[in-house]
Amino acid sequence: MTHAFDTLCIHAGTAPDPATGARQVPIYQSTAFVFRDADHAAKLFNLAEVGYIYSRLTNPTVSALAARVAALEGGAGAVCCSSGHAAQIMALFPLMQPGTNIVASTRLYGGTIQQFTNTIRKFGWSAKLVDFDDPKAIAAAIDDNTRALFCETICNPGGAISDLDAIARVANHAGLPLIVDNTTASPYLCRPIEHGATLVVHSATKYLTGNGTVTGGVVVDSGKFDWSASGKFPSLAAPEPAYHGLNFHAALGAMAFTFHSIAVGLRDLGMTMNPQGAHYTLMGIETLALRMQRHVENAQMVAEWLESDPRVASVTYPGLKSSPYHQLAKMITPKGPGALFTVALKSGYEGCVKLVDSLKLFSHVANLGDTRSLVIHPASTTHRQLSPEQRASAGAADNMVRLSIGIEDPRDIIADLDQALNASA
Ligand SMILES: *Cc1c(COP(=O)(O)O)cnc(C)c1O
Repeated sequence: MTHAFDTLCIHAGTAPDPATGARQVPIYQSTAFVFRDADHAAKLFNLAEVGYIYSRLTNPTVSALAARVAALEGGAGAVCCSSGHAAQIMALFPLMQPGTNIVASTRLYGGTIQQFTNTIRKFGWSAKLVDFDDPKAIAAAIDDNTRALFCETICNPGGAISDLDAIARVANHAGLPLIVDNTTASPYLCRPIEHGATLVVHSATKYLTGNGTVTGGVVVDSGKFDWSASGKFPSLAAPEPAYHGLNFHAALGAMAFTFHSIAVGLRDLGMTMNPQGAHYTLMGIETLALRMQRHVENAQMVAEWLESDPRVASVTYPGLKSSPYHQLAKMITPKGPGALFTVALKSGYEGCVKLVDSLKLFSHVANLGDTRSLVIHPASTTHRQLSPEQRASAGAADNMVRLSIGIEDPRDIIADLDQALNASA
């Protein structure tokens, strides 16, 4: 029986605990799991039977979360990781070899730009950053060594929307998987697999957990990509030396990516989610649909109020008719284009600093996707080391703050912004 999204948020991947009847998913705080006998152990290590060996690989609490997120995204399988950044490496790991590259959007989260431009080079991988609003530019950047395209559904910080259908057509034409970071939308607002994505990555740190308690990540595989077609993905579709020569795609079909990520990725990279974090995220997801509804309602109200305010120069929310992404948002995120956007103030850099210091309900933090409203001034914090010109091209101009609108009463959010704008003027 298939259920609607809001029901899956509460029930997918979990059943009463078979050992105790516990209704909530227990935190299986155990490193290892006892084998029934030597034959059982051999079957588990051969992937001939699914079960639990050691919590670096799999754990019942973490597996429940993976199954729930896979269901919400409409994927075949998922693997949980220690952070969103870990999930990005885990998504690339089975696809890449030294000398291969990805083509990624210039509008990615700053931390991802950093990971892709510098850190992955240590593995012999590289990223070409291009404007993902331009499918021709994406196609032109693809070469024989390209192994994936990578973008975000709703781009952080400015809220730009990626035309996932158009980008997936470019990926399909090139025979490459499209990886979509769906952190800022959550599967409630967009399910990228329905728009042609192969892999979906999440920072569970944000809306999935939803209350700023957990650092975690998830990779969901659609199960639909043919890893064997091109000969470009030997880890998945040729004998894998890291797993006694198993051809994962031949042996496991739609679950090849998920099993490789657990049996090789988590085993050898060890970027594993802990069971306590998985438990918090499972509880967070129970209210995902309710929270996201309120997040987008509040964001729309606050963005409209800010745009009409004479102290404000501009607002980037795609829910506003003034946004160049307004029409696209209706196709990609029909229930609302998230709750993350930037506001430019007429009072400039100094005004932004005063605004951040005067806000009382908003928390000044480097985070997003919390029940609480959050604010950050990139120019004086995350983008401090860049020149004003570099900041402007990164969408982090000196006179702009990023807001992550929470689920408080919108009148209180607006009142707080109003008094802080007075102080900043
Ligand atoms: C926060 C974030 C990440 C990184 O996630 P962590 O859990 O902090 O490692 C990746 N992508 C986006 C869009 C994010 O907002």
